[in-house]
Amino acid sequence: MPPFSSAILSASQAPESTALLAWYDRHRRVLPWRSLPGVRPDPYRVWLSEIMLQQTTVATVDPYFERFVARWPNIAALAAASLDEILQLWQGLGYYARARNLHACARAVVERHGGALPQDPAALRALPGIGEYTAAAIAAIAFDQPAAALDGNGERVIARLYAVRIPLPAAKPQLKALIASLVPQRRAGDFVQALMDLGATICTPRRPRCVLCPWRACCAAAAAGVAEELPVQSAKPERPSRYGVAFWLTRPDGAVLLRRRPEKGLLGGMTEIPSTPWRAEPWIIQEAVRNAPAAAEWSMLPGLVRHGFTHFVLELAIMTGRGVADGIWSRIDRLDEHALPTLMKKVARHAITAVGPRATPAPDGQTAVVLPRRRSRGGLARRTADGEG
Ligand code: SF4
Repeated sequence: MPPFSSAILSASQAPESTALLAWYDRHRRVLPWRSLPGVRPDPYRVWLSEIMLQQTTVATVDPYFERFVARWPNIAALAAASLDEILQLWQGLGYYARARNLHACARAVVERHGGALPQDPAALRALPGIGEYTAAAIAAIAFDQPAAALDGNGERVIARLYAVRIPLPAAKPQLKALIASLVPQRRAGDFVQALMDLGATICTPRRPRCVLCPWRACCAAAAAGVAEELPVQSAKPERPSRYGVAFWLTRPDGAVLLRRRPEKGLLGGMTEIPSTPWRAEPWIIQEAVRNAPAAAEWSMLPGLVRHGFTHFVLELAIMTGRGVADGIWSRIDRLDEHALPTLMKKVARHAITAVGPRATPAPDGQTAVVLPRRRSRGGLARRTADGEG
């Protein structure tokens, strides 16, 4: 009997892991980090892929994974790399805290575990960047331990299988208890991956293909005809806005000023185009210029750069000026050699496109408002977060 039965509907028969495993044996996806049937998985590849796949899709991760394992074929090689090298190869994958944790974790595994990832979920969780889900996924997939790992795809499958109507994320404890009751003692790694594959290919968010599902006969949501309505999601609060001004400072030879962000915090350790702090209130020009990296004649570029982070939406105005300052100077055609996060690439693109005759002088008035305060709420809510929070 599954736990939390008062919160769920039941179907005519209980789901069996054997049915899912038999389906997996015929329909498993071929993924670059997944070992072939009968081949022992490489824990390094399992761990690397699980970190990369957090908040990101398989299609996006694929080329990044290939580049990482080509350059650093094992955890010792990754531990010996510099954080700068890792951040540079990570560019565009977002959520850069993962890259910093990846590096810290590789070093911790070398120092504490002789270069081999531990098998125990508790020991895995003690490593940087490895939370409850990732520890369970690595323990199951890499070491075949009967650990219950439930990602977003798995949550959807289990919510439907038992017709759990409690909204996510409040339903997570119930879903974890339900999946724990299904994990087999043998082939736990295959079971976890089968659940991921079922969610990704059959039990999809829209139009699940129930007729092809190995758990069709025991699925409460399919029996009740409510599969597409589940899982229920709690309404997300709208993300607040933050505002800043970026400074595109160029030298007479055309080089542009960059600097490195502090190691800790948002986009930590990444290279950036200098800016004011990002705050809840829009900036006025005179106040913003006091944060500029150099005394210069600053001009405001038309337009704004908008970027969604997990917990807020950032609007950056861009000012241009000429001068010199301490920092990293880069030729504009060599910006891609720096670990610039997506936000900073947007700023650079905006500045490169707009700079020149279209730059307009900043007005002198003390009350000049740099940033427009409001856009349509609908526009904000539809944006996709591709940063980190
Ligand atoms: S029967 Fe349909 S809703 Fe139920 S688990 Fe399978 S694909 Fe999902």
